[in-house]
Amino acid sequence: MIDLRSDTVTRPTEAMRAAMAAAEVGDDVYGEDPTVRALEEHVAGLFGHEAALFMPTGSMANVLAVAAVVAPGQEVLCEARAHIARAELGAHGAVSGLTMRTWSHPRGQVDLAALGELFAPDLGPYFVQTAALSVENTHNFAGGAVLPLADLQALRAFADERGVAVHLDGARIWNAHVATGTPLSSYGAVADVMSVCLSKGLGAPVGSLMLGSAEHIAGARVRRKRLGGGMRQVGILAAAGRHALDHHVERLADDHAHARLLAEAVGADPAGVDTNILAFEVADAPSYVARAREAGVLVGAVGATTIRAVTHLDVSRDDAERAAKILGSL
Ligand SMILES: *Cc1c(COP(=O)(O)O)cnc(C)c1O
Repeated sequence: MIDLRSDTVTRPTEAMRAAMAAAEVGDDVYGEDPTVRALEEHVAGLFGHEAALFMPTGSMANVLAVAAVVAPGQEVLCEARAHIARAELGAHGAVSGLTMRTWSHPRGQVDLAALGELFAPDLGPYFVQTAALSVENTHNFAGGAVLPLADLQALRAFADERGVAVHLDGARIWNAHVATGTPLSSYGAVADVMSVCLSKGLGAPVGSLMLGSAEHIAGARVRRKRLGGGMRQVGILAAAGRHALDHHVERLADDHAHARLLAEAVGADPAGVDTNILAFEVADAPSYVARAREAGVLVGAVGATTIRAVTHLDVSRDDAERAAKILGSL
């Protein structure tokens, strides 16, 4: 089976398992796990942020990052298909007591005109106050679309003019970096708080980080424990993440090439494939998924007529070519 359902289905490589086995560990709630601390410092440094906090999941990293800049009763503005709005099961409202309003863009992009309409300054006891703007790069449900740096910088200026924060969901920021050559520090500079994921395209079994100022991270450390996210000898997991960062970032270019190959095979426009996610239309998605499975390829249905295929570390060139043939013939 060639599994193209998601870039989360990867398994740790032998070298990654060796790095995990060799990791020096300590109690992370006491701040004594050297491998976790080194990972946090390293990743904060990559993005030019003061500090970082290791988390079990990207959802937890987003929940704590947004809560660092939006108080209960305030709102964050985001794109309608953002992961924070759709895929975190209402945690930002249920756990953090904040609300959201959204703008819609077919490619998940920044829309300053829409933001200008939505933005609510402090109007006293009449309206919910906007405290932060959130963007996702790459945008998962918009087919792995990259948000251009110039647009993010314009969003940063918009936020600065109004005195509000920017949150960046950077679960796949590595893909954006490799696809465009934009330095990670340039992405980091547009965000007050952000999240990055080590277990999507990078292939670690678990792990995300929240990044921000030392003060944001100190607050998040308290909230992480409150949520039951205080972890102990997790250097064993941080070591997998560090290995992924050191060995699996540049190779994302292969995943992007494989996704374009699949796009050509199914007659989609390869120019619409920015990174490792391909969405394409079929007559009947559930039936297409079943026929692809019979032929040896797992893909996902993300609507009645839309198929999603995602390339990753465990899809070789040979696999991609074979999958292209099979999906093309369907
Ligand atoms: C996967 C993902 C996350 C985090 O997901 P977890 O499954 O909680 O680790 C956050 N944002 C985006 C855009 C994602 O694709």
